[in-house]
Amino acid sequence: MLNLVLFGAPGAGKGTQADFLIEKLKLTHLSTGDLLRSEIAAKTELGLEAKRLIDKGFLVPDSIVIGMIKSKLLENKDANGYIFDGFPRTVEQALALDELLEENGSSVSGMLCLCVDKEELINRILSRGKTSGRADDQDVSIIRNRIKVYNEKTDPLRNYYSAQNKYHKIDGMGSVNEIAQRLIDTVATL
Ligand code: ADP
Repeated sequence: MLNLVLFGAPGAGKGTQADFLIEKLKLTHLSTGDLLRSEIAAKTELGLEAKRLIDKGFLVPDSIVIGMIKSKLLENKDANGYIFDGFPRTVEQALALDELLEENGSSVSGMLCLCVDKEELINRILSRGKTSGRADDQDVSIIRNRIKVYNEKTDPLRNYYSAQNKYHKIDGMGSVNEIAQRLIDTVATL
């Protein structure tokens, strides 16, 4: 079973590349950002609580996102493998993911980290904001907060996966196709 963690700062291109990888590798896509936005669209209690945090550029509590991933894994038990996109984002989430996969006799195959310059991240998010309508994509101070939270809470996961020899750094600058090819070349080595 191939289980990929697609990793990178907000705006690094995880969603775009996940779309490509699921098609190419026939994996199931689990994006906590997408799952949270569907809760928001459905105006559930969870969605309303998440929206208050997301709109300010903060993370949603670990217990919420871990619970969402757990139920999606149960719903998709027959998958060939998964692409985790935007999850895990904290060490606590990474530990929970390892446990959940282990319960199925499985594990993370590799963590693919898309590396993008900070100014490019902000430009990509602002241009996505023009079409996504996402409040968290339209305000530079919120975007800066998301990058700050990423550096504090999420970036340390590079060490977590590195210690397990699962960390793979991928140059996230260039065209969508060039980056996709780099990802495929790395996945071939897993
Ligand atoms: P991006 O990678 O561009 O920040 P996402 O769609 O992955 O976009 O996430 C949007 C927001 O949803 C995040 O800023 C955060 O508030 C929330 N979120 C998504 N995934 C998680 C997670 N694993 N843990 C906590 N909060 C999350």
